[in-house]
Amino acid sequence: MATAYEQLLDATIQHLQGLKEQGVRQVNVTPETLAAFAQPAPRRTAAPVTIPPPVPTPAVAAPIQAIVAPPPAAIPSSILHPPSSPEKSAAFAELRTRALACVKCPNLASSRKNVVFGVGSIDAELMFIGEAPGADEDVQGEPFVGKAGQLLTKIIQTMGLSRETVYIANILKCRPDTPGRSAGNRPPTPEEMATCIPYLHEQIDLIRPKVIVALGATAVTGLLGKTVGITKLRGNWQTYRGTPLMPTYHPAYLLRNQALAEKRRVWEDMLAAMEKLGMPVSEKQRNYFLKA
Ligand code: URA
Repeated sequence: MATAYEQLLDATIQHLQGLKEQGVRQVNVTPETLAAFAQPAPRRTAAPVTIPPPVPTPAVAAPIQAIVAPPPAAIPSSILHPPSSPEKSAAFAELRTRALACVKCPNLASSRKNVVFGVGSIDAELMFIGEAPGADEDVQGEPFVGKAGQLLTKIIQTMGLSRETVYIANILKCRPDTPGRSAGNRPPTPEEMATCIPYLHEQIDLIRPKVIVALGATAVTGLLGKTVGITKLRGNWQTYRGTPLMPTYHPAYLLRNQALAEKRRVWEDMLAAMEKLGMPVSEKQRNYFLKA
């Protein structure tokens, strides 16, 4: 039977592996925590903790292995308060494993190079949702890394955030196939989105962002089922799974239409998101893309 210390260690390792899978490359550790790591592990004399039977779940992957018991003295309490709990990290890692093995759309499963699950912090307050991966995303296995993605990254940075602090995902996790064509993209079909969206729902329900930004008409229709045009909807708060959702233009649209007024519209949607999140907005930020 594993001791409380070993279970805690397992939970911590699992949590860090979850973060690593999400692309996190650094964690903040206090000097006290580092010093505690240098301590020898307690001998196996601790009273064993009882692990309750796992809750049955339809999920394929392993349930959470370790239940965190009251901390042994050698473990500083700071380590027990990571940004996200080991349970949340494990649930997210399990969801990712399931999505990566998905073959519900056989045509997409056979044409894809990678399943593009999502990137960022699972504790993000702000979540961006696009429609589907393009060619670059398919190759790299990461959403919004092509030209439109680079613009989205700039928008996020202009808000004072980073790709690491928000979460970015798509409704469809696989690149829509284009049989018989060597280049170009196609939008996901309503059927493909309906098949894939349960993964996104699980992502949203685990992350519990405070604000969602939906990027472009296809994503907005896929999420809200509304046929009202994006031009009318953008800038108007909606609610999705209980979370405020701001529809805005897709960054690819801004690449095609460089008009200052269109950039300003998207920027105003981002300012609204920042305000909803209670983020400070500087005078400089407030005035971006206004006529000189
Ligand atoms: N467009 C999207 O909607 N998502 C991506 O990941 C890339 C481009």
